[in-house]
Amino acid sequence: MGKSGQTPGIWLKGGAGAFWTAACRAALVACGINPENFGTYDQRADAQAKERKDYRDKRDGDAKKRGSKKRPHEPDCASRNGKTCSCVESANALKEMGPESWSLANSQSGHISQNAFYQGARADTCTNIPGEPGKHAGGYGYQDNKAFCMDHVGRSNDPGSDHFEITRREEQNKKYLQNKGVTKATMADIENSARGTAEIAAKGGESRINGKPTEEDKDRGAITPERKAKARLIAKAREGQAKELAKKENKGKRAGRSGRSGRKKPSSPSGKKGLKQAQQKVVECIIDAWKQSLDEMRNDVVDKYSVAANSKACQEQIALHNKKLPPGARPAKTFSDLPKARRDKINRDPDVKKALDKRTKELQKKKADTGPMGKGKKSPTEEECLEYQANWLATHRAKDGGLLPMEGRVPGKPKTTPTGFTNTNASNTTI
Ligand SMILES: [Zn+2]
Repeated sequence: MGKSGQTPGIWLKGGAGAFWTAACRAALVACGINPENFGTYDQRADAQAKERKDYRDKRDGDAKKRGSKKRPHEPDCASRNGKTCSCVESANALKEMGPESWSLANSQSGHISQNAFYQGARADTCTNIPGEPGKHAGGYGYQDNKAFCMDHVGRSNDPGSDHFEITRREEQNKKYLQNKGVTKATMADIENSARGTAEIAAKGGESRINGKPTEEDKDRGAITPERKAKARLIAKAREGQAKELAKKENKGKRAGRSGRSGRKKPSSPSGKKGLKQAQQKVVECIIDAWKQSLDEMRNDVVDKYSVAANSKACQEQIALHNKKLPPGARPAKTFSDLPKARRDKINRDPDVKKALDKRTKELQKKKADTGPMGKGKKSPTEEECLEYQANWLATHRAKDGGLLPMEGRVPGKPKTTPTGFTNTNASNTTI
């Protein structure tokens, strides 16, 4: 849980827009970021692709028309080289679509923190960095397509776009860590990188191009006129989107729209100073939501796959817990909703222990503790690896009963098992 006291279990299930605090929402709007446009990788990618396709279909259709109705593709459209129409990237498209639609259509789904911190191989959950009992939970429970994402405007290979600058900054951060000889990425390292991402997301790619190089982000590469022009175009869209969004927010308030945005009237930031404050606030809001989303993702894995969460003992504890609820309290539905004492009871239940022991042996035989994921009889499936990790996360907790902090590796390094990682024995230590 973040300090903002928001409902747990929300960021990844869609409709993130309703869960920002009023202050976060106002800051996002001031920065030209649609508060709704957050979610999992897949949710965001689908929304962007749809918006892109609508415009592309129109331009492809217009280009095929005859006579005066024919409208050729933009001069630099990729279709002129036999590729998919890229007219959507143009300044003309921005004019026609309006900033909101254009920004969405030109965005790619972007993680707040790089995948590579958490996994040995991209999109292979079975290579999640193993946890270390009592210290950290590694990358257990991480799934790249379920991780918290936002819209990063522009293609990641298009210099000057927000997404390009974010990706390059992440690479620079990786080099910085490598040069320091860091092999394990602690939660502080990961957060530091995520802050860099959130900063560019809040301020736009232009801020990186014009900003002073820092130790973590030394090499900005060649600042070409094209790169500057791309950054300016996206900045223009961002400024336009801020206005569009502000208008909508005000309309919503007048209509007495329900939801958290109406709880408290936020002071709307104005001027350069106001924008700067809003940008700083956005970074904090995104980082806070991202942290919550990591716990949400891991709790979901525990609740879906672990022996404990699927046990009879868990059902009993949920029923007992809900019987004694104070009025107005949210009833528990899952293992993760329960307080520490009840979870401990479930973990100590003899039937749960027995089932867990048996299952752990089966899963280890299948290499679900080490991966990689595969299709053969001796290779684990994603579900089996998640089940192993869920059991680990259910039984290896922080002193206060919460999830252990995550810890990763420095991206780009070959996957090794650093000293102190005891992945194969981990599940035996508390069973
Ligand atoms: Zn085109």
